This record gives sequence, structure tokens and C-alpha cells, in this order.
Amino acid sequence: MTAAPAPGGRVLPTLNEDGSRNWIRPKPAEGRWWRRRQVVAYALMVLFFAIPHIRINGLPAILLNVPRREFTLFGTTFLPTDTMLLMLLLASIVIAIFLFSALFGRVWCGWACPQTVYLEFLYRPIERLFEGGRSGSLNLDRKGSHFHPRRLLKYTVYLALSLFLAHTFLAYFVGVEALAQWVRLSPREHPVPFLVMAVTTAMIFTDFTWFREQTCLIACPYGRWQSVLLDKQSLVVAYDYGRGEPRGRGKARTDASGDCIDCGACVITCPTGIDIRNGLQMECVHCTQCMDACDHIMDQVGTPRGLIRYATQDALAGKPKRLLRPRVVLYPLALALFVGAFVTALNTRAAADVTILRGAGEPFRLEADGRVANQVRVRIANRSRAEHTYAITILGAESGQIIAPENPLTIAPGELRSTSVFVLLPRDAFTAGRRDITVRVTSGGFAESFPFNLLGPADTLPTVVP
Ligand code: SF4
Ligand code: SF4
Repeated sequence: MTAAPAPGGRVLPTLNEDGSRNWIRPKPAEGRWWRRRQVVAYALMVLFFAIPHIRINGLPAILLNVPRREFTLFGTTFLPTDTMLLMLLLASIVIAIFLFSALFGRVWCGWACPQTVYLEFLYRPIERLFEGGRSGSLNLDRKGSHFHPRRLLKYTVYLALSLFLAHTFLAYFVGVEALAQWVRLSPREHPVPFLVMAVTTAMIFTDFTWFREQTCLIACPYGRWQSVLLDKQSLVVAYDYGRGEPRGRGKARTDASGDCIDCGACVITCPTGIDIRNGLQMECVHCTQCMDACDHIMDQVGTPRGLIRYATQDALAGKPKRLLRPRVVLYPLALALFVGAFVTALNTRAAADVTILRGAGEPFRLEADGRVANQVRVRIANRSRAEHTYAITILGAESGQIIAPENPLTIAPGELRSTSVFVLLPRDAFTAGRRDITVRVTSGGFAESFPFNLLGPADTLPTVVP
């Protein structure tokens, strides 16, 4: 049997060359950027916990009802028939992300992504509290270390936190009222919601306890897009190679040495385990930790701060700033187009959304008396904030009979209902198997007409089916 090829060096900072996990225990560097990120992170956490409880226009600020395909965003509810509006909204968000990344790099990753915010400002500080910092910490790889009392205590706190986060997260999808019910009922009475809650908690717990920074390195597509989203004029966390090199430490330093004293402080503080001095890397989440660590070292050795700083790759190469680049011009244009279309569509959408469909199954039926019966299905979504009664009128079928079991139709605000109208016409009312009619739906100030064709036999000869 051929032996497996020897490993060709580390492929991921979280993997050792033998394939085992390289546990990253970053040493926090508490400088000015860290303090700013702390303020942003805790403000975002409060916002995340508060949003499900905030109501706008009597509706939850955000409620993503996936089973009903209804999405409420800041006082506006999008119904399943609002596909175009949702598409415009999603396209606007994607273009905004593209523009934001082109200008400010991965600011989202380092400052606002829930993965970074909760890992760096909640889970890791708790870990340091129970297990000590980088040097005094328990060895994560040591056999049996998971059962150390301090670690078990940490897991217990992690589990409680994960439960809380899972409940808050699910409140965005089911609403706080339904969630309160879930919590009060016994799991036996509602096994499915209990299972959803248990799985969400388990996923959050596993992510922040075990998977951690690998989410950014392996699972998140946003990091992988960076090579196409950024250009050399985008703001990134960067090491000033020209100023820092040639690096040297202690006695090895000479008059020709750069400002980097090769202390490694920027590496041991990095939450993804990389060395920023190797250049811009996909693994860098632009968290600014290395900026703080290096600034601290620069203060100690008496050289100016900013050896690692926010800069563009062109600026570091001594090239001039270019405000007008193709992507910085095209993205805002596309964004204005999509946002404009979204706002226009939102403001001009009718108070009700009506869909006319043919009845399921056979296209028409021949009655014993020779008449042709068509089933017309009318689906109405009431978009307004009040209950409305909708009257359905069929125009162009006066010679026949209309049977409508539910007409008019009363619909609660935000609800969607369907009803059927049966149109019976003599056989000779059809020409070449078709009869054009108009379905009119009215309610107060709302009135809309829809052309529709009924189907019948291709010939128009009066024949009675036995
Ligand atoms: S912290 Fe600054 S001085 Fe120290 S190794 Fe990193 S870049 Fe060099
Ligand atoms: S290289 Fe610096 S900015 Fe990038 S992830 Fe590591 S510490 Fe954060």
C-alpha cells in the first residue's frame, strides 16, 4: 500500500500539521480600539435582545414568519405575494454590503458580526474568568481536562447563555408571545417547538464552545468573497511593511532595522491565529486586536504608534488615494436604482393583493343540462391594517349563472384568504373553446378588475352529455 503523502505545512491556523486542532487562546490587547469595539459590541447585544420586544405601528419591529412566508420589518409586513419587493430589498442589501466592503473592508466582521461580538466579548471573557488567561489557562488538549471543575462550571454558564441566545434568536421567527407560550408548556405538549429550541441551543453552544473561529475561517462565505469585494484602495488592517522591515529583536537589531522588534505581540493576540506581517489574509477578520497590541509595544519602545493600522494597500505602497474607482461609482448607482425601485413599489402597492387562478383538476365540467361549468379561484391578501369585506363580481357572464359560496369575503388585516366562484354558461357562449370575462374585486376605496378566460369545448354545437 502506498504511504500517505507527508503533510505540506499548516493549511489553517486552527489545524496542526498532524491534523489535530490547534486551540487558539488569544491574549487580549486592551487598547483604544478594543475599548471602542467593547462599546459597539455591548450596544449591539442590547439591541439584539431588545428588538423582538419593540413594536412599530402595532407590529413587531422584526418578525420573520418563515412557515407563513410573512416578513415584518420595521412596521411593514411583506406577504408571500410580495416576492418582487423582497427581491428588491435583498438585492439592495447585497449591493450595500458590496459597497461597504469596497470602502471599509471587513469592518462588519471585526465590529458587528454576531460571531465575533459574542465570542470575543462574552464567551472568551467568561473563559478567561474561569480558566485564567493564555498562560495560566487549562490545556484544552489535555486528556480529561474537560472534566476539570472550573471547566465544567464554564460549560454550565455557556449552556445558560446559549439557551438565552437561542430563545432571543427564535423570538425573531416566532414572536415573543409565542415564545413565552413555548417556555411555559411542557415539552410533551409541544415536541416540535421544544426540538427546535434544543437544536438551536446545541448549535450555539457548540459554535462558541468548540467550533469558534473556524466559523470565520471555514464556514462563512463572506470571508471568502473578500478577494473580489476589496481592492487596493479599500480600508484594511495592515502592517506597514516598509516601516517595520527588516524586523529584528534584541541584540540582532542594528541601525538598519525597521520598527518591528519581532516581539510576537500581534500574533498572540490574534483571535484567528495569523501573523498580520505576512500580508492581507483571508483569515483576518479585521478585529484591530493586533493594532492595539502593536501600539502598546511602540509606546514601550518609544516609536510612533501605527506600525499596524487602518490603511489601504495603495497608501502603504506610497500610491495616491483614488476616491473615484469603478466599483465606488457603480455600486452606489446600482444601489440608488434598487432602493428607488423598492421605495416606489412599496409606496404604490395596493391595499389588497388579488390573484385569480383556474380551479385545480379538470379545466371545465359539462353539466347534465348541457351547460359548461368553470371554477375561478380568487385569492385576496388584505394588506391594510383594518378588516375589510371584498365583493367579487363576474362581468361578461350575464347569460349564465354565478355560484359563489363565500361572497363577499371578510378578511382580517394582514391575512390571506381564497374562495371559489363557479360560472355556468350555455355551451354556445364559448367561441373556439374560450369565453372572455372580467373578475372585479371591490372593497371601500379598493377596486381592481382582472381579465380572465373561461374554458369550454372547442366546438360550439349544443350537445347534451348523458
Ligand atoms: S507587535 Fe508590532 S513590533 Fe511586535 S511583532 Fe507585531 S508588528 Fe512587530
Ligand atoms: S491579523 Fe489583526 S486584525 Fe486580523 S484577525 Fe488577527 S488580530 Fe484581528
